[in-house]
Amino acid sequence: MDGGKKTVVVALGGNAILQPGQKGTYEEQMANVHVTCVQLAHMVESGKYRVVVTHGNGPQVGNLLLQNEAGKEVAAPMPLFALGAESQGFIGLMIQQNLGNLLAEQGRGDIPVATIVTQVVVDKQDPAFSNPTKPVGPFYSEAEAKALESDKGYNVREDAGRGWRRVVPSPDPISIHEKDSIRHLVEAKAIVIASGGGGIPVIREDGKLVGVDAVIDKDLAGERLAVDVGASIFMVLTDVDSVRLNYKTSDEKSLSKMTVAEAKKYAEEGHFAKGSMEPKVRAAVRFVEAGGEKAIITSLNQAVAALEGNAGTTITKN
Ligand code: ADP
Ligand code: MG
Repeated sequence: MDGGKKTVVVALGGNAILQPGQKGTYEEQMANVHVTCVQLAHMVESGKYRVVVTHGNGPQVGNLLLQNEAGKEVAAPMPLFALGAESQGFIGLMIQQNLGNLLAEQGRGDIPVATIVTQVVVDKQDPAFSNPTKPVGPFYSEAEAKALESDKGYNVREDAGRGWRRVVPSPDPISIHEKDSIRHLVEAKAIVIASGGGGIPVIREDGKLVGVDAVIDKDLAGERLAVDVGASIFMVLTDVDSVRLNYKTSDEKSLSKMTVAEAKKYAEEGHFAKGSMEPKVRAAVRFVEAGGEKAIITSLNQAVAALEGNAGTTITKN
């Protein structure tokens, strides 16, 4: 491929698209995505990296579920996995348009930016399917929740005194179904946006792929994507600039680097919260164990500095 460039898979956190407290209008999301794309454009501008982007979709799919619920009498509701595809499409559009415009301003309008609707294969025997834990969509009263349970077969659960919610399985990603298409685009010098929201979960049934209502962790799916495109670097961009030990205590300590063995030990000691930092560290460890050069966890505005080794937390084999 193009002389010595390294492939970086960048996993964007929720805050790259929607900030806490915002309603989620298209204009708000475009403004956030613009700020994100300025950083991505800097990476491209350096001439050192081929960039592949993945992203979360929690608030976006949450809003689509609310629309489903509110409009169910006038427009047919879509299954959760189809909403995943919708969110990949419109988040992909926001990144494609912003990044494309920024590159054109830099005289690099020749670099294609493309989004791939991405299916991620999961195992129907995954234990997550018999223990759904990920809350999605609106809050319901107990009566509404029980009706959804019997009418639609939803799994519902009371959510910390706030009301009832649907819960779905969060299975482990096995492979990125569109990996060959993505790899071809990367080889053709395109910036690719793929596996958004952890990908559209699919299982194999009688040799065919079918969508399932589940949510795959976007950092774990991002790691699969990084392996599948042969990336050297897997970078997770979130709202903290580094991984901390004793997070939010008086002994808090920022880590500039950790080895795989250290990361596993810290995880076992409980330093990384489940559902937020723990899957990021787990994904980083998996990537390096699969032969990746390094994984980086940092914030959006430190991304370029972190690639140079001057910010963030870098995870390496030794
Ligand atoms: P994203 O949308 O980027 O995936 P998450 O909220 O899932 O964001 O994960 C990032 C959050 O992880 C941070 O905001 C921070 O509060 C939390 N976190 C938990 N444990 C740690 C830790 N040990 N060090 C740093 N951040 C941590
Ligand atoms: Mg997260």
